[in-house]
Amino acid sequence: MEKEFYLVPELNKMSQEEIRLYQEKKLIKQLAYCYRTSAFYRHKFDEAGAKPEDIATIDDLRKLPIFMVKDDERKSAQESLKKYSHPFGLHLCAPVEEIYLTGTTSGTTGTPTFSYTFTKRDINFIGRQLGHRLSLAGIGKGDRVVFFFALGIYATTMTLWGLRELGALPIDIDARAGTDLLLQFIELTRPTYLACTPSLAEFLIEKTPKVLTKDVRDFKLKGCLTTGEIGIALPEIKKKLESAYGCRVYDYWSPCGNAMGISCDAEKYHGLHAVAPDVCTSYDDLVDPITKKPVDSDEDGAIGEMVHTALEREACPAVKYAYGDVVQIYTKECPGCGFKGKRAKLIGRADDMLIIKGVNVYPTAIKDIVTTFAPDVTGEMRIVLDAPPPRVVPPLKLKIEHGKKVGRGDLPGLSKRIGAALHNKIKIRPEIAFVKPGELPKETRKTPIFEKTYE
Ligand SMILES: [Zn+2]
Repeated sequence: MEKEFYLVPELNKMSQEEIRLYQEKKLIKQLAYCYRTSAFYRHKFDEAGAKPEDIATIDDLRKLPIFMVKDDERKSAQESLKKYSHPFGLHLCAPVEEIYLTGTTSGTTGTPTFSYTFTKRDINFIGRQLGHRLSLAGIGKGDRVVFFFALGIYATTMTLWGLRELGALPIDIDARAGTDLLLQFIELTRPTYLACTPSLAEFLIEKTPKVLTKDVRDFKLKGCLTTGEIGIALPEIKKKLESAYGCRVYDYWSPCGNAMGISCDAEKYHGLHAVAPDVCTSYDDLVDPITKKPVDSDEDGAIGEMVHTALEREACPAVKYAYGDVVQIYTKECPGCGFKGKRAKLIGRADDMLIIKGVNVYPTAIKDIVTTFAPDVTGEMRIVLDAPPPRVVPPLKLKIEHGKKVGRGDLPGLSKRIGAALHNKIKIRPEIAFVKPGELPKETRKTPIFEKTYE
């Protein structure tokens, strides 16, 4: 039997062209709804000189300007707080009494926004989609999933709905409770899956033997789910985690409940597979992160900032929302699992992008190259910024943890080799300072890539 990549059975029988037509039918209905129910979106359409009925295809949608970036969402929330005493923004399309679940962004880059706000109908739909997506990592009825993120009001809370939809049991432990408690609960509950950030999964490899006198491999997990940072997209990190845990490690994401994706069961990382084309058009709408001009997302290898437009959402549907995630799109069939839809590799945040001598450089691209030098490096590093990005006056300063077995005398040679690799692959000549292994602080939430020395 063919693998059922999509939740809706009919989608599994469709060609990619037919799936696009299916999306377009939903798009027309969704845009009419947003225009009808929200003065905010009416105003956006009017500003663009368009009516929702002008947008009948994904191509038409791509031609519309961006309606919202992160700062606009924040402003919209401030205004709705002032005007209607609620934080869900002027772009809220459903009556405020209909809100059933809300989750915010982590707030690591400013005031949290309530981007994960759903009506009951929304979370029923999204929950089933989130669940189906995780079933592709093998999760099903009877699985126990230790879920270790900042919980409660935060975005990750919606994933618990997906796990419950599957009949799996989430064991949710707030990341702020610390890793000792997490390990104690792993001992007590014998989970089959662990969900956390990739850096935390890495941290547990060393921490577990100190607390439990056993290795992470002894958890005998069926799989490990990671999200929140760029992790297993880096080959060294995928290898390190999978060999330590003795199971497949997956990467999944769904910014604002859109762009739902998961990596597949393969030795190599082949990106986040767009397994929910009926949820949004995110994989088909890219712009340049700086100019916000369209980038052809149907071209294999295209790089751009993803623009979200929801296809079935009542509460806070994204419409032309450039949320800040920069991805590289792959359009060819996945060599790992045969998936025929689009795949995306997260490259970084639009606001993380650096411009060095006119060239766009993403921190991940740097980290990607540096981690290939393991075990001479630990993989932990920081980019030191003396002035606000994106423009950097060369040389770019890097702080890199060297490996445990690297002596002082080896450092100049290592620095030269890393410098040469960075110059060959992404044309930068960095200034490298080494620090001892473990010296750069690890966070249980998102580990920062930048160290900022300016005020
Ligand atoms: Zn695949």
